[in-house]
Amino acid sequence: VIQWGQPERSVTTTCAYCGVGCSFRAEMKGNKVVRMVPAKEGPANRGHACVKGRFAWGYATHPDRITKPMIRKKITDPWQEVSWEEALQYAASEFRRLQTQYGRDAIGGITSSRCTNEETYLVQKLIRAAFGNNNVDTCARVCHSPTGYGLKQTLGESAGTQNFDSVMHTDVVIVIGANPTDGHPVFASRLKRRLRQGAKLIVIDPRRIDLVDSPHARAVHHLPLRPGTNVAMLNALAHVIVSENLLAESFIAERCDDAAFGKWRDFVAQVECSPEAMEAVTGVPAADVRAAARLYATQGNGAIYYGLGVTEHSQGSTAVMAIANLAMATGNIGREGVGVNPLRGQNNVQGSCDMGSFPHELPGYRHVSDDATRNLFESAWGVSLQNEPGLRIPNMFEAALDGSFKGLYCQGEDIAQSDPNTQHVAAALSAMECVVVQDIFLNETAQYAHVFLPGSSFLEKDGTFTNAERRISRVRKVMPPLAGKADWEVTVALAEALGYRMDYRHPSEIMDEIARLTPTFHGVSYARLEEKGSLQWPCNDDAPDGTPTMHLNQFVRGKGRFMLTRYVATDEKVNSRFPLLLTTGRILSQYNVGAQTRRTANVAWHDEDRLELHPSDAEDRGIAEGDWVGIHSRAGETVLRATLTERVQPGVVYTTFHFPESGANVITTDNSDWATNCPEYKVTAVQVVKVTQP
Ligand code: SF4
Repeated sequence: VIQWGQPERSVTTTCAYCGVGCSFRAEMKGNKVVRMVPAKEGPANRGHACVKGRFAWGYATHPDRITKPMIRKKITDPWQEVSWEEALQYAASEFRRLQTQYGRDAIGGITSSRCTNEETYLVQKLIRAAFGNNNVDTCARVCHSPTGYGLKQTLGESAGTQNFDSVMHTDVVIVIGANPTDGHPVFASRLKRRLRQGAKLIVIDPRRIDLVDSPHARAVHHLPLRPGTNVAMLNALAHVIVSENLLAESFIAERCDDAAFGKWRDFVAQVECSPEAMEAVTGVPAADVRAAARLYATQGNGAIYYGLGVTEHSQGSTAVMAIANLAMATGNIGREGVGVNPLRGQNNVQGSCDMGSFPHELPGYRHVSDDATRNLFESAWGVSLQNEPGLRIPNMFEAALDGSFKGLYCQGEDIAQSDPNTQHVAAALSAMECVVVQDIFLNETAQYAHVFLPGSSFLEKDGTFTNAERRISRVRKVMPPLAGKADWEVTVALAEALGYRMDYRHPSEIMDEIARLTPTFHGVSYARLEEKGSLQWPCNDDAPDGTPTMHLNQFVRGKGRFMLTRYVATDEKVNSRFPLLLTTGRILSQYNVGAQTRRTANVAWHDEDRLELHPSDAEDRGIAEGDWVGIHSRAGETVLRATLTERVQPGVVYTTFHFPESGANVITTDNSDWATNCPEYKVTAVQVVKVTQP
């Protein structure tokens, strides 16, 4: 509930929605926020904001907030409010019981990209040092894990190459698998400004997204490919660049690995990769692909921006590598106006990955098998660390169903709603003996929990978020935690209850530890963040003021490595039973599964998820605008109302996933990226039929 009035003071903090990371002044009256004003000095937003950051913060004091710890022995029992001490002792004793009974690896935890760097760092430390295993994963698993993998393989660092200002120096922009107008609105405004100044735009997306027809900034090319064919399209673009001699030869000779380049050039030069050969796969006329490739390769600075429409596929990592290949092939890396730019979904996806939330990596993307890294953390934390990767989230579910994984600590992530094939997730959670959920609301996952630990919203946090441009910004406490403890304090207390001591008086001391142990963060501290406003990592002796543009003179890995990116069709095939392809996305006013935005006035803009389908597909099925339709997939079925639009092509349907009753993830399947297990949310074969109102 927004309570307007004259402010008495203000606190500058960072938006907790998307990866743009806008800076806001929270104007306060007593302990109440009266409005959020976008900060003019905010480097990511420069005084701009969208309807989420500006208006959708009232959830922080919504009556649904849970502010007392609760336990129950069985998930069929009613919840009982208990003291913090009782809840934490119960969780710790259950975790220890499970390890005694089933082995050290029978428990694990999930960190959140909604939480601060400091909170995330502590959760992975708790799991590695107090649980004694590497069974830690993050919700980035289900969004940008292919970015981490693909960019590390090709460029050497699991992060985007530019800052947002870079787009103002771009001549040609490719937006692939992203819808910035809805997903990253403040960045979209900057991009449109550059397009109005004359930069050219190529959109590669199955839907006719807003950018395609944006007034005064229309796309030169829209390549409406079939869902699931990104790699075929990217290889076709590369084929044109190679076969028409549009390569940046001196850049490649100087900066890239010769042998890898040679193999890649021979691979994409094959006729099977040509736009003509790929036309039957992508559905896009070869002439359009050729024209787009020429535009990107020849018109000056070329930048690629991409989102979950690239990563959330069975070839998500391959597509990320194919994007990096294109940028290297055209010399579009290592200066302003170019680069490979993942648009991160959540506020701290970049940070949660940086902080060592993956089961195979310690903070700073260093593999757990690396002896020197492990020794460093072992001596700092006073424990022995496992040298083998632990379980990823989907492996945890499988192990739970096999009976070998029994306990989970899940902070700030609603896996029962946001992970694919929710029936499978529910079965796995039901098979566990102790599920501890830490969240601000009694979310869907809490239905399967035995311990509920109340979390704190971004307005109650002190810490830092890292946005999509690697920018570390302060999050400042605007009001005290409603439950009496900040999230970092809860993790510290849980560690203590498990017999492992963590000694911090303030989140700044956690950041000091991160900086000591992580070379790319050596120059980061709260004092330096106060002085500079924000810092983009790497920030260390080599780059004391941070790094706006990466890979300036050489790639982080030394020589840039072209990777072979063979197109393999997804297993998710259409047939006569499931003849349409469903893909998913977001809408401007709502955010992810809607836990926050649904509890704000933003529902006035958008209060239900709908299924978009092409008028010809609707006519075939006797469906009219607003009709209720049943959507059936191999995984499940759900019901939505229909919107008829030519934004989607015939054969493709589309929905958002902000409202739990829409059950979008009931119908998504278990297919996932071959390298990272990122779920293939973006391609589900479905049938759509008219039904009566449910
Ligand atoms: Fe928040 Fe993203 Fe909107 Fe900025 S663009 S106000 S970070 S949701």
